Amino acid sequence: GLPDSSGVPTLVPNIAPTHLQPPRIVSSNAVKRVYSADDFEFGDVLGEGSYSTVLSVTHRRTGQVFALKVLDKHHLQRVNKVKYAYVEKDTLAKLSNAGHPGVVKLHWAFSDTSSLYFVLDKVNNGELMTKINVLGSLSIDCARYYAAQMVDTVSWMHDLGVLHRDMKPENVLLDDNMRIKITDFGTAKILDENDSSGGTSSFVGSPGYISPELLISSTCGKSADFWLLAKTRKAEYAFPEGFDPIARDLVENLLVLEPAGRLGDVARGGVSALRAHPFFALIDWGTLWTSSAPVLK
Ligand code: ATP
Repeated sequence: GLPDSSGVPTLVPNIAPTHLQPPRIVSSNAVKRVYSADDFEFGDVLGEGSYSTVLSVTHRRTGQVFALKVLDKHHLQRVNKVKYAYVEKDTLAKLSNAGHPGVVKLHWAFSDTSSLYFVLDKVNNGELMTKINVLGSLSIDCARYYAAQMVDTVSWMHDLGVLHRDMKPENVLLDDNMRIKITDFGTAKILDENDSSGGTSSFVGSPGYISPELLISSTCGKSADFWLLAKTRKAEYAFPEGFDPIARDLVENLLVLEPAGRLGDVARGGVSALRAHPFFALIDWGTLWTSSAPVLK
C-alpha cells in the first residue's frame, strides 16, 4: 500500500546523508532540515520491486518531478533485508555526491515510522532489457554505444571504490535521451579505502549474469562487473551466425573464467585496455554523454 504521508515523520538518524540534505529552508517560524513525504505530491505508480513501490512524485515547492522509491520497513525487517536498503542508500549517496550521468541520482533520503523513502531521478524509458527483448538483439551501433556507456559508468564507480555486483540489462534504465542510468545498488559494495583491488565476499548476483568467482567462492573484485551473459560455471556460450567478429573478440576477452585474465582487470591493463578494444574504436569517449544516442534498432 501507499505510505501515509499525513503523519508527522520520525526521522531516523543518518538516513539523510548530510551532503544530500537540501539547503535549509527558513520560513517564518521553522527551520526545515530534511524533507518528508509531505513535501511531495504522489502520482502514478511506476513499478513494484520485491520490497518497494516506486511512484512518480512532484516536489511541491519546486514542481520538480522525481521517482520516489518507498520501502516498507516492517516488510524489510520480516524478510531480513534492512541491510540491503541501507547499502543501497549509502552507495547511491556516495555516487550521487560525486555525480555521473550514467547512475540514477539519489536526491534525498528520509524515513517515517512505516517507510524508507529515496527521492531519485525519474527515468522515463524503461529497462534496456525490455528493448533487447522487443528487438531480439541490438544493432551493432547500439550495442557499441550502450556497452561503452556501461564501461564508462562502471569504471567511474570502481574508481570511487563501488562494486555494483549485479550488472544486467534489467538494472540499466534509459532516460529521455535514450542514455543509460544504472540502478539497483542494493547488492553493491563500497570497498575499503586500503583495499582497492576489491576482495569482497558475500553471495550476491543474478542467475545468468553472476560472475564465476562469485558463484564458486563468493569473492569478487572489479572485473566481476564486466562479466556478461554466459553459462557461468564453464563459460558455455555460443555466438549466433553473423555475429560481428570484433564484438566476438571483445566478448571472448570478457568472458574469461579467471578474473585476472579478463579484459578490464588490472592484470590486463585495467579499464583503459578495455576502452582501447577495437570494438570501441568508433566511440568518442569525450562526447559519450553529450552526443545523441543512435536510433534504437
Ligand atoms: P527488485 O527489488 O525485486 O529487484 P527492482 O529492482 O526492479 O526489483 P525497484 O528498484 O523498486 O525494484 O523498482 C521497481 C520498478 O520501478 C522498476 O522495475 C522500474 O520499472 C521502476 N523504477 C525504479 N526506479 C525508477 C526510476 N528511478 N525512475 C523510473 N522508474 C523506476
